[in-house]
Amino acid sequence: MNSKILKSGHIKLYKRENSKFWQMKIKLPKQKAIRSSSGTKILKEAEKIALNHYSLLNKENKIKIKKTLNNIYKKMHLVETADLNKKEIEFILDEAQKFISFNKMKIKKNNLLEGRTIFNLFFEDSTRTRTSFEVAAKRLGADLINVAVKDSSINKGETLLDTMTTINSMNPDVLIIRHPDEGISKKISMNVDACVINAGDGSHEHPTQALLDALTIKNRFKNFNKLLIAICGDILHSRVARSNIIILSKLGAKINVIGPKEWLPKNIKKLPVTVFTDMKKGLKNCDIVMMLRIQKERIVGKIMPNQKTYFNKYGLDYNKLKYAKENAFVMHPGPMNRGFEIDSKLADDVTRSLIQEQVAMGVAIRMACLVILTKNRDNVLKS
Ligand code: ASP
Ligand code: ASP
Repeated sequence: MNSKILKSGHIKLYKRENSKFWQMKIKLPKQKAIRSSSGTKILKEAEKIALNHYSLLNKENKIKIKKTLNNIYKKMHLVETADLNKKEIEFILDEAQKFISFNKMKIKKNNLLEGRTIFNLFFEDSTRTRTSFEVAAKRLGADLINVAVKDSSINKGETLLDTMTTINSMNPDVLIIRHPDEGISKKISMNVDACVINAGDGSHEHPTQALLDALTIKNRFKNFNKLLIAICGDILHSRVARSNIIILSKLGAKINVIGPKEWLPKNIKKLPVTVFTDMKKGLKNCDIVMMLRIQKERIVGKIMPNQKTYFNKYGLDYNKLKYAKENAFVMHPGPMNRGFEIDSKLADDVTRSLIQEQVAMGVAIRMACLVILTKNRDNVLKS
């Protein structure tokens, strides 16, 4: 067999005995080799075709992530938005920006976190957030382990801290934690060596959700300074509301909070928001209307409002959206209670709703957070 190697073994040209055409074998690192005919009998032409083919494939495979020159966020954990200043938030959003186009490529895999071990520890049911972190970790080449904590020894009497100590002994790099108790991620972060990401702790905080919301908004409006954003519904039980109020106001947006009196936290006046109990007044001049899920699981021992009555007053539909600015956008963190807090048709209307975009931004934000925190941990371990 006639053969020629181009580019240090990545491209091989060869001729089979029974064929006059040059065959190409292109092998990219960590991928199956691709074999096909070059379609020519002339070696020089075959070389050109193979090199072109190779660079095309290689371009698709390579993430064009600019080196982070100045790492502004230096902490190892991401547990509270209260810990973040404006520069740090902007830095995370910029880092995430790189992954948006990467996530649209044909081959969505790089090796930024190859060999790292990441645990998804979800003590509360979640499909969306857990999957989003899983996709993010796998696209970065990390090994992700989903621990079904509900079925684990924690139900056999082991304390949470014992579970964490056990996992810590396996030398994980990142722990992603969702738990119904407020402040749990912070506590865990003080007791383990891994980076900790709070993926929702009770009614307290959900930092990556607020960051992904900020990224979604940034891609539409660029500048937060002139924005008026309404956050509506079950403010009291919503960690999404709390984290968003903190992040979006730090970025410079003005925020209206709208909800029934019984769902407004007592300390709401201490937050940088203007409070309304009426949708018509609260939505006036808003650029964005962010609806919240009614947190049924946290409204225990209290009376759930009647769906129809609630929807008439606080549910977002095309009519109420008219109170906001003419081209205002609609957001919702999911999962939605269609027909309770939001009209189903409006939620699916891609000319008004950014809900699917929020999901896409979620993966980009989580990729950025995983990379930043892991790098910071490497630096701590080095010093
Ligand atoms: N709260 C939902 C869940 O736990 C969705 C989300 O977090 O995005 O699945
Ligand atoms: N996905 C968000 C969360 O987990 C919103 C929600 O579930 O209501 O907090």
